[in-house]
Amino acid sequence: MINTQTLTDQIIEGEASYLAQTYKRPPFVLVHGDGMTLFDSEGNAYTDWVAGIAVNIFGYNDAGVQRAITAQLANGIIHTSNLYHTAPHVRLAKLLVEHSFADRVFFTNSGTEANEAAIKFARKLAYEAGKPEKHELVTFSNAFHGRTMGSITLTPREKYQKPFKPLLPGVKVAEFNNLASAQAIINDNTAAVFVEPIQGEGGINVATTEFLKGLRDLCDQHSALLVFDEIQCGMGRTGTLWAHEPSGTTPDIMTIAKPLAAGLPIGAVLMTQRVADAMHVGEHGSTFAGGPLVTSVALEVLSRVTQPDFLTHVQTVGAYLIEQLSKIVIPIVKDVRGRGLMVGLELTRDVAARVVELGYAHGLLMVNAGANVIRFVPPLIAEKSHVNQLVGHLTTILERVNNE
Ligand SMILES: *Cc1c(COP(=O)(O)O)cnc(C)c1O
Repeated sequence: MINTQTLTDQIIEGEASYLAQTYKRPPFVLVHGDGMTLFDSEGNAYTDWVAGIAVNIFGYNDAGVQRAITAQLANGIIHTSNLYHTAPHVRLAKLLVEHSFADRVFFTNSGTEANEAAIKFARKLAYEAGKPEKHELVTFSNAFHGRTMGSITLTPREKYQKPFKPLLPGVKVAEFNNLASAQAIINDNTAAVFVEPIQGEGGINVATTEFLKGLRDLCDQHSALLVFDEIQCGMGRTGTLWAHEPSGTTPDIMTIAKPLAAGLPIGAVLMTQRVADAMHVGEHGSTFAGGPLVTSVALEVLSRVTQPDFLTHVQTVGAYLIEQLSKIVIPIVKDVRGRGLMVGLELTRDVAARVVELGYAHGLLMVNAGANVIRFVPPLIAEKSHVNQLVGHLTTILERVNNE
């Protein structure tokens, strides 16, 4: 019989010895999962309010996702590269176009790569128009667009940017939800304006309809592209397929990624015909992107997420989550906000990491969004019973932290 304690220690010590130390992980090892629940190597169960950071849209051990993977494996092809025609990425692109503002799609392997592609497409459009000076990019306070050099330049946080300078030239930062501040820096040299309709990492901040509409107008005035980063808030998470839908505005480019293939790595850039027309053969590419295995799984995800019943479920459970969290009356709780199953609970002190840490002993996986916000982005299969369980434990934890 295997000594599980030893196995756990071996993995944790191995991580400390062999991995670049860029992540801080809690002291347990996850070994299997089912539905909303993950289990560690010692048999402890955790209800998952993180979903691998808004990725595992159907939770764990999902039969449909497993069928999509096995069906594609049965064809014997995981990868062919973009040198050749294959079927699944075409079917996926068609479905994405049918369900959005977009005319065309470019696939990537991650969120940050989708934003890098969006930067290149925006600059290429201006270049094609004979305006190389129209290369500036606009981003907002508390934005998160990724970790590669272009995307971190669009992510105005000292900790992420400072050690890696020089960054991309021509990026300007305005205040989120402040239209006057955006107006002051958007001009005819602006190639694109990047905004998350609901900011994720930055603390679950919902862009107002007025703000998104105002950005649309400013972009039209200065023929700049409006880019919605829906990498975290898109794909049904907020109770509509796309988070920008309730605002009545549409972008020129939308980037998506996290949940698109239910845990397999994928990203996509959705764009209008005008943007697509600026890109020609050989001007951008990726070895892995849009491969038959990942896109087969994404087809399964998209065909289920677009079902009205699925989105209604997210709206119902999301509203219940906000309602129940709002009933926690403890002085340390400052605000509850969000939409659908993308919800933040703001604290009066920078102790979100402490709350997350205390959650483990209660069988809860949670994640912070900044120092003072606890973020709830569970699998979209979460039920009201999971909310009740969460709120019970969380109340105990918050009472304790309140008194610390
Ligand atoms: C996670 C995230 C990214 C980066 O995606 P990666 O796949 O980690 O590169 C970009 N934008 C937003 C809004 C995100 O939440």
